[in-house]
Amino acid sequence: MLQQEKITSTSAIALEDKYGAHNYHPLPVVLSRGEGVYVWDVEGKKYYDFLSAYSAVNQGHCHPKIVNAMTSQAQTLTLTSRAFYNDQLGKFEKYACETFGYDKLLPMNTGAEAVETALKICRKWAYEKKGVASNKAKIIVCENNFHGRTTTIISFSNDAVARKNFGPYTEGFLAIEYNNLTALEEALKSDPNIAGFLVEPIQGEAGVNVPSEGYLTKAKTLCEKYNVLFIADEIQTGIARTGKMLAVDHEGVKPDMLILGKALSGGAYPVSAVLADDEIMEVIGPGNHGSTFGGNPVGAAVGIAALEVVKEEGLAENAHELGELFRAALNKFIEKSDLVNSVRGKGLLNAILVNDSPDSETAWNICLALRDNGLLAKPTHGNIIRFAPPLVMTREQLLDCVSIIIRTLEQFQK
Ligand code: PLP
Repeated sequence: MLQQEKITSTSAIALEDKYGAHNYHPLPVVLSRGEGVYVWDVEGKKYYDFLSAYSAVNQGHCHPKIVNAMTSQAQTLTLTSRAFYNDQLGKFEKYACETFGYDKLLPMNTGAEAVETALKICRKWAYEKKGVASNKAKIIVCENNFHGRTTTIISFSNDAVARKNFGPYTEGFLAIEYNNLTALEEALKSDPNIAGFLVEPIQGEAGVNVPSEGYLTKAKTLCEKYNVLFIADEIQTGIARTGKMLAVDHEGVKPDMLILGKALSGGAYPVSAVLADDEIMEVIGPGNHGSTFGGNPVGAAVGIAALEVVKEEGLAENAHELGELFRAALNKFIEKSDLVNSVRGKGLLNAILVNDSPDSETAWNICLALRDNGLLAKPTHGNIIRFAPPLVMTREQLLDCVSIIIRTLEQFQK
């Protein structure tokens, strides 16, 4: 039987290739185990994980506290749907609301679902609180955004590959340049039907685009001026990734709506959420929105454990310190190299810009060489390589990783 056959990297890749839809282009490495900052492939080779499942595994692979919360809840009660109450959800909602300073939380599972949830709440708020005429609400988004893969979300993406042949597209979005306050004010002024401004505090998928200091504060002030909801998508940047619990914390900004996902699950089990104060969240009533799995007891137990780990282990502080060290070391290398143009990021969400065309294979080949040298990372947008290890990394491990990265880059030096 298939289950009893020994899986090798080659056979696992062949299986996915034959039976799986080709909606990803994975680096050729087949993982079968993870612990902390490490993963192992099916042949037993050990790697540093420098992607952390796109920042979902901030707490490290198979964190014992999170796994324990998940397995003990899985043996007790897994799913009730929201047709009934369960004894875990309220505890999770309270804990997350107190952690992030909001009145209420709406639980979902994946990031895209949470973004959809925020868009729906924003539109409903516009009609019922702001007084926007029926079906006229517009939400401002930023160019080069990444908020997920649903039909509505890709409708306001400008990534041709993500959009092409998936139309017709959902209306009601207005795209402006990221990190451009003039463009934001123009857009806010342009139409009284603007309901919200959806923004990533750092654009992760676009290649770790860090906005100018003060951008988020000023954007929030502008939103207040025009009575528009400031909606922060912290799915990738939140939960300590950038050196603070939230990336907006660097500027002391409190979004009107906060969207969380990925590491809210500790990488163990899908948990996402939208948080807002009563004034906004009360527009949602029974039947307006929901999800069979959203708010399930396993997800709720996992969510509490995932947040507790971040606080108990000081992961934000660690991400801050190691991030400084990482960028300093890479900058030293860049000073005397023409292979890499720059390193940018905050905390442990960083990227290097390879000095080659986005269509070139250089970044991909560097990632293959990194893999051979024991470190897993993935290019984003051609010539950019994102570096985002689990936040439980020690200083010694980070220095080891820096030396692997530099040694690998040197292999590509002409
Ligand atoms: N928003 C941001 C900022 C993301 O980075 C992602 C995923 O990469 C999403 C939303 C979508 O999350 P999911 O893949 O869980 O639907």
